[in-house]
Amino acid sequence: MTDFLPFTRPTIDEETIADVANVLRSGWITSGPKVQALEAGLSAYFGGRPVRVVNSATGAMEIALRLMNIGAGDEVITTPMTWVATTNIIINAGAMPVLVDIDPRTRNIDLDKVEAAITPRTKAILPVDLAGLPVDRDRLYAIAKKHNLRVLEDAAQSQGATWGGQRVGSFGDLCSISFHPNKNMTTTEGGALVMNTDEEVREFVKWRLQGVTRFPDGTMDCDLPGGKYNLTDVSAAVGLGQLKRLDEFNARRAELARRYFKLIDRDLGLELPPESDDSNWHMFQPLLPLKNMSISRGEFIDRMKDQGIGVGIHYPALHLFTLYRERGYKEGMYPHAEHVGASTVSLPLFPGMKDEDVDRVCAALTTVLKPVLKR
Ligand SMILES: *Cc1c(COP(=O)(O)O)cnc(C)c1O
Repeated sequence: MTDFLPFTRPTIDEETIADVANVLRSGWITSGPKVQALEAGLSAYFGGRPVRVVNSATGAMEIALRLMNIGAGDEVITTPMTWVATTNIIINAGAMPVLVDIDPRTRNIDLDKVEAAITPRTKAILPVDLAGLPVDRDRLYAIAKKHNLRVLEDAAQSQGATWGGQRVGSFGDLCSISFHPNKNMTTTEGGALVMNTDEEVREFVKWRLQGVTRFPDGTMDCDLPGGKYNLTDVSAAVGLGQLKRLDEFNARRAELARRYFKLIDRDLGLELPPESDDSNWHMFQPLLPLKNMSISRGEFIDRMKDQGIGVGIHYPALHLFTLYRERGYKEGMYPHAEHVGASTVSLPLFPGMKDEDVDRVCAALTTVLKPVLKR
C-alpha cells in the first residue's frame, strides 16, 4: 500500500531543524539576530528593497493599510477569488472591499474591469497572484498611475514568480508575502512586507511592535497604538533554511506542473490552468467538468481520497460568505469567480513529490472521473 499523498506538505531539511535547535538553546528565542538575517536575505532576494517580517501575511497587510492611511469611508479594489484574509483586512480597517470579477483564463482580477470600479473614494488596488500566477504588472501599474492609486500586492502565493523577467516583489508599490506552511517557503507561520522608503520601514516597525521607538541612549517613546506582530527567531531560523532553497523548490514545482500538463488525460474534460513560465506553481488547479459529471465535487474529493490522494479547494468565491452577503454582495455578481469557486480543485503539488506521485494522481483522476462522465 502506498502512502497517502496530501495536496501539500512543507519540506524542512535536517540542517534547518538543527539550526532551530541552536536558537532554542541560545538563550534568545524571540525577535533577534535570526529575524535580522532573514530580513537581509529577503531584501537581497527582492532586488535590494527593504523587507520587514511579521508573524503572518495578514498582519503584514493590516500594517500596509495603515501605511497607506486607508480607513473609514475608503474603498479598495480587489478580487473575489482569494483567501478571505485579503478582504477581511480591508473591513477591519473600516474600509470597503470593492470586488471586480476575475479573468476566466488567469483567474486573477480582470484588469479590463478595474477602471469601471474606481470611484472618488478608491484609495488602492489590492491584486492577488492566485496559485502563484502573477497579475499583469504593466497594466496594473498603468491603471494605478493614471488614477493616482496605491497598490498593495497580495503576493502571499507568488514568492519567486516573475513578471517581464523580474521577480514579483522586486519592483512596484507595497508587496506582501506569506510564510504559512502551505506556501512556497515557510517560517511555520509568518509573513513579510516589501517596501520602498525608510519612512515606510520606520512606521512599519512601530506598528509591528506596540508603536515603540527605542533611542540609542536607552530611552523610548510610543507614538501610535501598534500591535504585537513580531516574528520569533525560532520561526526566522526556519525561514532562513527555506529561503536558501526557495528557487530550487520552485524549479521542482515547475517540473511537476509540466508533468501534470503532459500526463492529464485531456478526454476527461478538466479545464487546466494557464501553462505559464512566470508562475511559481504554488498550486495546480484544474476545474472539474461538473455539468458533465454525475457526482458532485465533494464526492469527487472523497473518491480521490479513497485512491490515496488529497485534494483541496482554494477557494470558494468569497462574496458568497455571510460577512460579504451582509455587505450587499450576491450570487450572480461575479459569474467567473463563482464558476471557478464551484469547480476548482487543488491537486497535490509540493517540492517533496516524486515524478511517480504525479503519475499516481493522473491515474486516479482517470479512475475516478471516467465512470462518472455523462455520454
Ligand atoms: C495565505 C494567504 C494569505 C494570508 O497569509 P497568512 O500568512 O496566513 O496570514 C493572504 N492572501 C492570500 C492570497 C493567501 O494565499
